[in-house]
Amino acid sequence: MALPKLDELSRSVAEDPSMVTGAVPTSDWMDIPVVFKPGNYAYPAKKDKVEYLNSQSGLSFPNARVWSPEEDDWKLPENWKEIIFNGLKERLGKFRSLKIFMDCCVRCGACADKCHFFLGTGDPKNMPVLRAELLRSVYRNDFTLAGKVFGKMAGGREMTVGVLKEWFMYAYQCTECRRCSVFCPYGIDTAEITMMLRELLHLVGVGINWILEPVSNSNRTGNHMGLQPHTFKDNVEFLVDDVERLTGIRPNVTFNRKGAEVLFITPSADVFAEPGLYTAMGYLILFEALGLDYTWSTYASEGGNFGLFTSNEAMKKLNAKMYAEAKRLKVKFMIGGECGHMWRVLHQYMDTMNGPADFLEVPRSPITGTVFNHAASTKMVHITEFTADLIKNGKLKLDKSRNSHIKATWHDSCNTARAMGLLDEPRYVLDHVVDWVEMPENTIREQTFCCGSGTGLNTDEIMELRMRAGLPRANAVKHVHDKHGVNMLACVCAIDRATLTSLMNYWNPDVRVCGLSELVGNAIVLDGETREELEDGLRTL
Ligand code: SF4
Ligand code: SF4
Repeated sequence: MALPKLDELSRSVAEDPSMVTGAVPTSDWMDIPVVFKPGNYAYPAKKDKVEYLNSQSGLSFPNARVWSPEEDDWKLPENWKEIIFNGLKERLGKFRSLKIFMDCCVRCGACADKCHFFLGTGDPKNMPVLRAELLRSVYRNDFTLAGKVFGKMAGGREMTVGVLKEWFMYAYQCTECRRCSVFCPYGIDTAEITMMLRELLHLVGVGINWILEPVSNSNRTGNHMGLQPHTFKDNVEFLVDDVERLTGIRPNVTFNRKGAEVLFITPSADVFAEPGLYTAMGYLILFEALGLDYTWSTYASEGGNFGLFTSNEAMKKLNAKMYAEAKRLKVKFMIGGECGHMWRVLHQYMDTMNGPADFLEVPRSPITGTVFNHAASTKMVHITEFTADLIKNGKLKLDKSRNSHIKATWHDSCNTARAMGLLDEPRYVLDHVVDWVEMPENTIREQTFCCGSGTGLNTDEIMELRMRAGLPRANAVKHVHDKHGVNMLACVCAIDRATLTSLMNYWNPDVRVCGLSELVGNAIVLDGETREELEDGLRTL
């Protein structure tokens, strides 16, 4: 679908009614049905991908079929209502947070205008409070006394096919970014409600391909693209060649090496797609500068975990691969590359999913001796923490002038910033490698705005929706571009590097996107290097 021209879309965001209904609401939200049309939904999961996943131990993805959201009949199982009821009952028993979130919203509205999907689409059902109400209304009807007795008067409603379709629409217009939860006086985390909606939908075979295909590929070959081990190795070696051409130094890399001190795992996008490739070259230069005893793995070749966007079981299974590989290779600890949701999974769920990882050591930098006690249970350190510690201890030779062609700003990726608290370390690194400025206060750190396409929504068929959802982020970038001449948006998330590139191309075409390690790689001075003046840093190639 062609994207509207920039000024048309800007005007429509400011003046038009909801993108989805195309009308100002005139009746109760419960009575407004969703309408699926090209551009407002992501394509359903392919039948063969669902069949494959359903055949895997520990996973359940039933009802594989060909279906379309635009058709009336979604080919649901005959007893689909019973499946949803039992699924919700099971989850209310299993996840205490879900029960609390269902019961404690006071409808104060503090979250209402905090969601980028609401700001970009103007659809009231994209207000976090109403998104949660889509599930809460069914919960009230089926699981509370007031709802059973008073029904709609108590905010309850029966589960119907129309409600299920509404769940599908709005569970995939939420990037689980958790911005709304920062403003909720009760700490209600709408992201977790969206996660439950998606899990329930999967129970009856309703899911999207852009998520289930990467999950299937990761389970089969270890990474999202389904790259075979030799291809993954070749791609890293191409990057080694590039670094050698630029610096005269050939980084030493090994794969699947038993007994290495460190296992390094990064999103596979870093080794096969721009602009992540330059981030990966930054890692290679950094590790070469240190002489780090580390290895890549061609089996645990993906840091990203799209299981987070589907179900608890899928997330657990994909996360386990990294730890199984660390055990097989007998490394001491792991360093993780620039990924967002990899860190959400690690820091919020790893311990209770696959932990404790007792066979690994508490990470201790072999270069500075710093012990990363906050990673005592996960045994994995983020590359940004690792790099900040190196700089603080004077272990890197840096020439900031090598980034003089760049005026950067910093995008706090939702998962590393809000979920993990990685706020000051990247800023400390930036201070040492590049000239940069902050975006406005209410759009950074814990209040950061999402890229608009996370949680597996970075698919082309919903590009207009993505551009709308990303508008608050793009608007803040435009502000620093116009005021300070910013020409680079830096971040530490592979999904962001991909999605922000599309977003900038549309809203701010003069601003490019990079990973933090690219800027570090640009600035590092390697012993014996023959680097010439590189007008565009590692991108000069
Ligand atoms: S801020 Fe919290 S309590 Fe208030 S409406 Fe939103 S979810 Fe409910
Ligand atoms: S988690 Fe993010 S995308 Fe989802 S409702 Fe909250 S603010 Fe919106």
